[in-house]
Amino acid sequence: MTKPVFRFAPSPNGELHLGHAYSALVNWRMAQETGGRFLLRIEDIDVTRCTPAFEDGIYRDLAWLGLEWEKPARRQSDHFDDYREALEQLIDAELVYPAFMTRGEVRTRIAHDEAEGRSWPRDPDGAPRYPGDDKHLSLAERRGRIAEGAPFAWRLDMRRAMAHAGVAPRWDETGQGPRGETGIVTASPQDWGDVVIARREIPASYHLSVTVDDALQGITHVVRGRDLFYATAIHRLLQELLGLPVPSYHHHDLIVDDDRRKLSKSRGDTSLAALRTTGATPADIARMVGLG
Ligand code: GLU
Repeated sequence: MTKPVFRFAPSPNGELHLGHAYSALVNWRMAQETGGRFLLRIEDIDVTRCTPAFEDGIYRDLAWLGLEWEKPARRQSDHFDDYREALEQLIDAELVYPAFMTRGEVRTRIAHDEAEGRSWPRDPDGAPRYPGDDKHLSLAERRGRIAEGAPFAWRLDMRRAMAHAGVAPRWDETGQGPRGETGIVTASPQDWGDVVIARREIPASYHLSVTVDDALQGITHVVRGRDLFYATAIHRLLQELLGLPVPSYHHHDLIVDDDRRKLSKSRGDTSLAALRTTGATPADIARMVGLG
């Protein structure tokens, strides 16, 4: 039997905090208990927000916690060609389209509909779904606008993608979703509308890179925070469209602050580096996240 493969996949756009420590430790312990492998992936496709200093901080904090990952860690910014190849498959299958509407145009379009009493659909994160008017541009119009240098993103044509996949994808959830979903879950990618798959200057989005990398790294168990539970529907759909293997998923609790809000990278007081300078030990961190 092949060994289970786990991964912890932080973005180096801030310092790791207690929420990351919890996720890394849960992955690490599951790998230990199952005799599995533990990989680290640096999710740095957003080259404007990710920095080498934050990346070094990740290595330092995880080593301090006592975790050992296979070296070298995969850095997404070193693998844009892999994402480009997947994107090209989706372009060739006509499952993505160049979306030109700016944020302002989207807002105006939605405000117009809402003023007429029509409620605009929201995605599971509460953001308005993309209007998708430019899905109907002709090939010549698309080419013309791209040649003019108009900014655009590649968006999934959700309706076509669902039709192409045939059946609604499912996954095996060994943790729990926000509404207690567990066991075999039927994905509803349509709830997200036409999600961004890649940008003009970066051939990937979070959804595309995470799906491609989980497959290329042979991840068998995706263990991550519950905030990504509904996004799994998109990852499952992309796996169907790209013919990729399907891992099992385990969405764990989120570590929240005193006001029951998810911890964020901008709040320095729970950062591992700050806790370390005040004398906290790795055992203290494990206790603080309930894994003592
Ligand atoms: N890079 C994502 C984050 O830092 C996690 C992605 C994942 O685990 O699928 O929130």
